[in-house]
Amino acid sequence: MPYSENEAPSFSRDRHRLIKWRMHWLPSYPLKDCRCGYKEAKREHYSKCPLLTNLLLDLTNKYGTIPPLIYPMQPLDFILNNTPKSEIGLSSEKWKVVWPALIRVLREIDILTHPDEIFDEDEPAPEEALELPITNTTQNEQ
Ligand SMILES: [Zn+2]
Repeated sequence: MPYSENEAPSFSRDRHRLIKWRMHWLPSYPLKDCRCGYKEAKREHYSKCPLLTNLLLDLTNKYGTIPPLIYPMQPLDFILNNTPKSEIGLSSEKWKVVWPALIRVLREIDILTHPDEIFDEDEPAPEEALELPITNTTQNEQ
């Protein structure tokens, strides 16, 4: 069975973000303006949004070279596609830093794409996700 975001070690809200990004449901429709002011920001905006630059650079620095991508693939898609398919792979030194950086980027995209919402709920540190057991849940969570 192919690997899915359901099985990646992630907290429930992060898992939803991973799935939504993958399904092109993040940003959600109707498109809202990004917190940077960009109008009706689509997902490709988040490879160049000035408010995301630092987190994205941090991620790509940790990941390494990303080849030229064919539209509509985004850097985040490329990294997700290359995520190790096993717990062992994810426990490598590289992924121990890449995976939390990726979760951070997705959390920020969630915030940036919801300019009218207040995000004041504390979430666990992304690094802690790697200590979670890999889940095989196939049911939908609320
Ligand atoms: Zn933006």
